[in-house]
Amino acid sequence: MAADTTPEPGSGSPRRLGTLALGTLAVTAGRPDRTPDAPLNTPITMAATYVAGGEVEYGRYGNPTWTALEDALGALEGGRCLTFASGLAAVATVLDLVGTDGTVVAPKHAYTGTIMQLADLESRGRMKAHLVDITDTDAVVAACADASLVWLESPTNPALEIADIPTITAAAHEAGAYVVVDNTFATPLLQRPLEDGVDLVVHSATKYLAGHSDVQMGAILTRDDDLYAVLKGRRDLVGAIPGPFEAWLTLRGLRTLHLRVERAQSNAQELVRRLGEHPALSEVRYPGFGGIVSIVLAQGEMAADLLSRKTKIWVHATSLGGVESTLERRRRWKAEAATIPDGLVRLSVGVEDIEDLWDDLRDALDGCVG
Ligand SMILES: *Cc1c(COP(=O)(O)O)cnc(C)c1O
Repeated sequence: MAADTTPEPGSGSPRRLGTLALGTLAVTAGRPDRTPDAPLNTPITMAATYVAGGEVEYGRYGNPTWTALEDALGALEGGRCLTFASGLAAVATVLDLVGTDGTVVAPKHAYTGTIMQLADLESRGRMKAHLVDITDTDAVVAACADASLVWLESPTNPALEIADIPTITAAAHEAGAYVVVDNTFATPLLQRPLEDGVDLVVHSATKYLAGHSDVQMGAILTRDDDLYAVLKGRRDLVGAIPGPFEAWLTLRGLRTLHLRVERAQSNAQELVRRLGEHPALSEVRYPGFGGIVSIVLAQGEMAADLLSRKTKIWVHATSLGGVESTLERRRRWKAEAATIPDGLVRLSVGVEDIEDLWDDLRDALDGCVG
C-alpha cells in the first residue's frame, strides 16, 4: 500500500495521474526501455560532445541522464521539464522572460534568493518588482492588472503563507500575464500547479526532489510548447546546465520522493500537535501539509540561537527537504525580510523516528523557557 498512498493536503486519498498513483510514477517514470540486458537505471553519461549528425551534437544542448530525470519529473508535475544547475539558475531563467518595461508581482516573503534577484534586476533598470502580501488575495488580484509575470510561492519560505493559486492565476491570465509557482516546498506530490492552469512551475530540486542534501539542481516545468522552446533556448545559450552525475543523483533521490514526503509530513504533523503546548514558543506555523514547520521562540533571537546550538539529532544548517532534520533561525541571514520574526526558527522535518526527534527538540526547547 505505502507506495501509492501519498495523501492530498487535507484529505486521506492517494493522488493519481490517469491510472497510476504518483508514488508509482516516481518509481517507474524515466526508465530505459525493457530490452534484454538493458540496465534498469539510466547510466551516467559523461559527454562534452557527441558524434556529429545527430540531434544533440554538444554537451550543453542535451544529455541522456538529464533526459531521464526530466521525463520522471515531468511525469510527476504533468508537464515538460528542463533541469538547471541550481534552483536559482531556474529562477533567473524564468525572470529573464520579462522585458525591460515589465512588472513582476511576487510575494514579499518569497525565498530570499528570488527576492534578491528581483531587487538586483530592478536596481539595474531591467524590470519593476511589486512585492505583495500573498495571503491578501484581493490585493494580489488588483496588482495583477499591471503585471507581465506573477510569481507565486506557496507555501512561502519561511513564513509558510498560502496563496489562492486558482483565483490569482485567473486574474493574471485576464491581464495577459504569465503565472509561475515555485513548488519547492509542496513538491508535485502535494500540489500540482500546472493542473490549475499555471504556466510554469519552478523547483529547487536541491531540496525534496533530490532529498539527501548532497546535490544542487533546479527545474522548470511547463505544458506550453512555445515557452518550453524559449526556455530551452535560454539554457542552451547561457549554459546553466546540470552535471550528469548531479542529474543521476537527483533521479535516484526522486525514486523515494513519496516515501520521504509521506514520512516527513507525518512527523511534522505530530510535532505540530506536541509543540503547540510548549511554553518556550509564542507561535507555531504550519500550513497543514508538507514537512516544514516554523516556530517562533517567545524569548526572541537569543533563545532561537540557543535552540539551534542545543539539539543533538537536529542539525543546525540552512537548506531543507533532506532526509535529515535541520533547523535554522532565518533572520541570521541579513537578506531575510525584516517582517520575519527575529526568533523564528524554520524546522525541516526529516524522516528519522518521531520519538527521537521529539525528545531532542523538547529537551532543547526546555532550556529556552523564560
Ligand atoms: C532553496 C530554494 C531556492 C533556490 O534553490 P537553489 O537550489 O539553492 O539555488 C528557490 N526557491 C525556494 C523556495 C528554495 O527553498
